[in-house]
Amino acid sequence: MRKVRISFFGLGYVGLTTAACFAHKGFKVTCFDIDESKIETLNSGKTPFFEPRLEELVKTSVETNFLKAVKDPVKAVLDSEMTFITVGTPNKEDGSIDLTSIKEASKTIGEALRLKDSWHLIVVKSTVIPTTTENVVGNNIKKYSGKHLGSDFGLCVNPEFLREGNAVEDTFKPDRIVIGESDKKSGDLLEAFYREFYNNNFPPIIRTSLVNAELIKYVNNAFLAMKVSFINMIANLCQEIPGSDIEIVAKGIGLDKRIGQLFLKAGVGWGGSCWPKDLKALLNFSVKNNVELPLVESTLKINEAQPYKLIDLAKELIGELNSKRIAVLGLAFKPDTDDMRYAVSIKIIEKLLEEGAKVVAYDPKAGHNAKKIFRDIIEYADSIQECLKDSECALIVTEWDDFRKLKPEDFVKLMKIPAVVDGRRIYDPGLYSPKLRFAAIGLGRRKYHNPAFAANAIIKEGERILLVKRAIEPCKGLWSLPGGFMEYNETVETSLVREVEEETGLKVKPLKIIGVYSDPLRSPVKHVITISYECSIVGGALRPSSENSEIKFFPINNLPKRLAFDHFKIIKEYTKAHSKNS
Ligand code: NAD
Repeated sequence: MRKVRISFFGLGYVGLTTAACFAHKGFKVTCFDIDESKIETLNSGKTPFFEPRLEELVKTSVETNFLKAVKDPVKAVLDSEMTFITVGTPNKEDGSIDLTSIKEASKTIGEALRLKDSWHLIVVKSTVIPTTTENVVGNNIKKYSGKHLGSDFGLCVNPEFLREGNAVEDTFKPDRIVIGESDKKSGDLLEAFYREFYNNNFPPIIRTSLVNAELIKYVNNAFLAMKVSFINMIANLCQEIPGSDIEIVAKGIGLDKRIGQLFLKAGVGWGGSCWPKDLKALLNFSVKNNVELPLVESTLKINEAQPYKLIDLAKELIGELNSKRIAVLGLAFKPDTDDMRYAVSIKIIEKLLEEGAKVVAYDPKAGHNAKKIFRDIIEYADSIQECLKDSECALIVTEWDDFRKLKPEDFVKLMKIPAVVDGRRIYDPGLYSPKLRFAAIGLGRRKYHNPAFAANAIIKEGERILLVKRAIEPCKGLWSLPGGFMEYNETVETSLVREVEEETGLKVKPLKIIGVYSDPLRSPVKHVITISYECSIVGGALRPSSENSEIKFFPINNLPKRLAFDHFKIIKEYTKAHSKNS
């Protein structure tokens, strides 16, 4: 039996990939796109964008004449029995779906069908809001062809679930096929085609109404986006809990079969050509139907804020970003594609520029698209090494395999300040944290317990309290923080923050003052104040206060046995005295 002949309207990521896969399996496919450059590119056996394996499929299918593109849309329709619509469906300003291309394509198909005698099937593969296929596509075709739905042509909705970066593989091995049909004849023809295409590997199939099929696509995207936003929300909580790690938490819940491991990877948020626009379109559609979708709203809201978490972490590691050289590793919205539509890298770079940072970016494939957005405002590196060289903080924005392969030593060797913020959780904190300044989305910050922010204070020196370095053996691997002035109007917390920064270069955030011990009789000085506190380091660069000194912070659970001074004893005495008095 002769194979069904197919035409495509729209040669984007979905249209070209699907067309090439169909042609690869021996179906005659004729494509049309309003963008003539895409027609020329395809006919020369090339692809207008990067997608693994796609160029190889296009090349062979063009050579064997199973795949071709034409400038005349009428020819594309007349040369086929079945037309797939794969044009873009972006958003309007208000978030609603922009159907301009859908209307245009269905009008053109209608005009072509006017010249055709035999029955024709139109398959909508573009993602469209429920009722669009019947009310917009169907009505346009009727109007411009003068023909009747059912007797002259049929309609199907066949939503696409491929993932960019894995599009060829996903087309050959989908989880399922969804067919929405205007009538049985239309559904039967499309199912028969897919049975022939997949042969022995026919996936599960759902045949249903047009609107159900339209809805399935939106609900699918909303659910997956919700899963990712959910884990990002929990990651933000983990970050505030010392010792916690979202990677472990996600693994723990993912092993529950009811939850599943996939789409539980915390990070800097999701972008891409589908989820952001589809969730907005779904929300807009629900408002028009007087229904609230609070989970979808929150999913979007969490995602709006998530990229900025990376900037906050960078600031905590290296302080203010102004004039600092920041390396951005990854621009594409996901690995293995050059697509930057709604990529979180755009928001991150915009924010870095707003903060006055000097941005140098590298992506294995998306550099050319980034140049269209940022022109010469940022620097583009040709390699990871060039990007990292002399930078003061590296941000992991896209999880390309090449970035995963890097070792802490690579950053240490190349960067001016080896500081890494892992926005995609591709590095092992156990390997990275000891070797460089390291922070990651969803990784509980390391917090420190300073057992001895100790100072001798000579009260009343003019308007000031003088805090004097009080360690007996400072700077020999022993804990010691030198002192300075404490202003009268300062609180213990603010003086502590100031003192630590002046003496060590680090910015700290006091979490809890454990003890303030005051001993007016202490010899040899008149008055001693000992402050013991817990803090988290939130920025700055650790530097010793003198050339041969060494400053150390000790994790709470790993305090050195021997301190320069037994502050624990003092605190104990203080606590005892304090409890007696109260
Ligand atoms: P795209 O923007 O990459 O490509 C759309 C193509 O349609 C463009 O080449 C454009 O020139 C062409 N076009 C516009 N109007 C036309 C017309 N009147 N006639 C012929 N061609 C026309 O879009 P895409 O990413 O391939 O997405 C297409 C549809 O598939 C969208 O509805 C999208 O939501 C959906 N989808 C996309 C993905 C994905 O990963 N990109 C996955 C699933 C579903």
